[in-house]
Amino acid sequence: MQVVLATGNTGKLREMSQMLAPLDIEVLAQTGFAFEPVEETGLSFVENALLKARHAALQTGLPAIADDSGLEVDALNGAPGIYSARYAGPDASDEENNRELLAALEGLSADRRRARFQCLMVFMRHPEDPTPIISQGTWEGRILDTPRGNGGFGYDPLFLIPERNQTSAELPPEVKNELSHRGRAMRGLLAQLQKRLSL
Ligand code: IMP
Repeated sequence: MQVVLATGNTGKLREMSQMLAPLDIEVLAQTGFAFEPVEETGLSFVENALLKARHAALQTGLPAIADDSGLEVDALNGAPGIYSARYAGPDASDEENNRELLAALEGLSADRRRARFQCLMVFMRHPEDPTPIISQGTWEGRILDTPRGNGGFGYDPLFLIPERNQTSAELPPEVKNELSHRGRAMRGLLAQLQKRLSL
């Protein structure tokens, strides 16, 4: 089976391709097709994931997997949430978003810096698929006051996993994929996909 991965984010693309590599699925990156990404107009992760998968399936004629993900910080009432990629502005870099987050949390003690990554991942067989597969993964942590580590992407250098005393940017890629919101969402998605294919 060929599937298009509906993301232009190189960090996500790398992680999702690694997770799908052992399977009998030929994974094609959306970036290999010449079309404009869809506008993320949804007000929830799942709406945006569906928009992205539907758009990629329509543009390529292939089944599509998309995720919409982000960071929820309790002290910020769940922000940046679905706006995680654009927290510091429409074309913000990871560094700019991280600086914005540190400024928003300045002066808060460790126990007020609780946060989690959320990932909503969907699989659509075609653009009109009325029963997309939907899977959610969550990863609990805390926001540091200075970045640590060079791996991963996005907010990883600021996201501490308290049980390991490491940030997600300090984890080897295979460990991040095992523990992360995206890894959990992908395993849930594949379990449902396998069940559906064997029906
Ligand atoms: P999306 O591409 O609209 O889903 O935005 C996802 C954004 O959430 C990314 O640009 C990052 O800022 C953040 N994010 C999602 N997953 C991760 C992760 O695994 N590590 C760090 N940041 C993440």
